[in-house]
Amino acid sequence: MGKATHAACAAASNAAPADGAIPPTQATEHEIGLLPHTVRGFLTHFANLLVTGQAYSKCTACSAVVLDAYRQRGFDFLLQVFNSPTYLEDVTGLSELHKGTESGLADWDVDDGDEDDF
Ligand SMILES: [Zn+2]
Repeated sequence: MGKATHAACAAASNAAPADGAIPPTQATEHEIGLLPHTVRGFLTHFANLLVTGQAYSKCTACSAVVLDAYRQRGFDFLLQVFNSPTYLEDVTGLSELHKGTESGLADWDVDDGDEDDF
């Protein structure tokens, strides 16, 4: 993965390290404090979790195929993305994944309990 990163996908690479939780009594490395990928809050528990995202090879923002296409084709790549709502999904393989998921669901026999089994 290159310098351009998508925070939710960058943790598994070395592109965008994220800070994890440390005790409030411990000094942070940077003056501005921690820089996590994501903060999830739980109001009922008065608590926050610092969540680290994992890289996803089919990310439409920061996957290698997207970054490589942008580096090689520049604005022509962006123009194709702007003009075709499914282009990024096609390039990253998400379209193929969706088709596989849909066909898998079609084959899945769900017993909804409304039918008699006689
Ligand atoms: Zn990403």
